[in-house]
Amino acid sequence: MSISNYKHTAAERFMRYVQVDTQSDPASPAQPSTEKQKDLSRILVEELKAIGITDAKLDEHGYVYATIPATSNKNVPVLCYCSHVDTAPDCSGAGVKPILHTNYNGSDIVLPDDTSVVISTKEHPYLKERIGDDIITASGTTLLGADDKAGVAIIMDLANYLIQHPEIPHGVIRILFTPDEEIGRGVNKVDMQKLGAQYGYTLDGGERGHMEGETFSADGMKVTFHGISAHPGYAKDKMVSAIKIAAAFVDKLPRNEWCPEVTEGKQGFVHPVQIEGVLERASVSFIVRDFDTAMLAKHEERLKALAEETIKEFRGSSYEFVVTEQYRNMKEVLDHHPQVMDYAEEAYKRAGMQPVRMSVRGGTDGSRLSFMGLPCPNLFTGEMGIHSKQEYVSVQDMEKAVETLVELARVWEENS
Ligand SMILES: [Zn+2]
Repeated sequence: MSISNYKHTAAERFMRYVQVDTQSDPASPAQPSTEKQKDLSRILVEELKAIGITDAKLDEHGYVYATIPATSNKNVPVLCYCSHVDTAPDCSGAGVKPILHTNYNGSDIVLPDDTSVVISTKEHPYLKERIGDDIITASGTTLLGADDKAGVAIIMDLANYLIQHPEIPHGVIRILFTPDEEIGRGVNKVDMQKLGAQYGYTLDGGERGHMEGETFSADGMKVTFHGISAHPGYAKDKMVSAIKIAAAFVDKLPRNEWCPEVTEGKQGFVHPVQIEGVLERASVSFIVRDFDTAMLAKHEERLKALAEETIKEFRGSSYEFVVTEQYRNMKEVLDHHPQVMDYAEEAYKRAGMQPVRMSVRGGTDGSRLSFMGLPCPNLFTGEMGIHSKQEYVSVQDMEKAVETLVELARVWEENS
């Protein structure tokens, strides 16, 4: 069944949501990291209530919970549809002026507020596939915020559609809007009990037809070197500079393999993200990434061996390291619940797409939710060129995602 005679609200909502500045801040210890994220969350609660979802609520941690009640009396597992309200700290999200380019003609898009910002089909080949669609961009001085306000608008439109169409059989659907996803804290304070869902889907993917059930596994590793301090005027045969040890260590890292600059697909890497130090002590912090969790320890061993090798070059020096678990590949969880991806595939097909299973070279809210007991792959929204001024989204992609979520809810009901 098609939903083509429905007047979608996703684009209209999206154009409004992106004008609310919801940038998160990694330097803030608060929860949510920025109060302004709640500005959008409060709007969402009001709009959910206007749709007829009476239990919509914003909690003190910045999460919005809401329920689309069941229309089926079967025992259908409770699904959660989830997206995040914050935008990335990498690029300004204040004063976003969304522009709707109707019936896109395939040419490069020059943004009016800074004409040096061009969304070219060369750098964004997916645009060529969207000729004839209505494309939304920012104006050249900010990001757009399609990541992840496209997901938010899709879920809002879905709620609007399902409430208007109680004849469509589905189970209970829980809506969850999170803050702080972009700074890796998106699910820190989710109340899983209160959420009460059995399976989830994040709406935070890119191209139409893509679905992501696999993410990196991720550790942090901090290597600290100890030197020997002395007065520089009287340092002969005494001083050992920890700064120089750390520099020598970094210099040993290969540049043609094992780093983000030269890896892709299923390859893992280590990546120094911060270096800090004084004469006596210097540390290098890494992120360690691989799809195979067991490989993380191997990468860490290899870093350790390089540290060993380095201190041999510096008399009297030593090192220590700390590994911190960050997140794990959701595939380890999803493999135990194959229906979560299989039903999504079925929904994509019913909505007229050939599903493509992809892996994310990063993490999602779903990576951590999966390990918190909510198996949770990531579905497409149409958001593209994310975290940049070249960000864009196709209105028709958002509407296709709404249709997909309707089909997905039906597939779960039919199989219950
Ligand atoms: Zn996102």
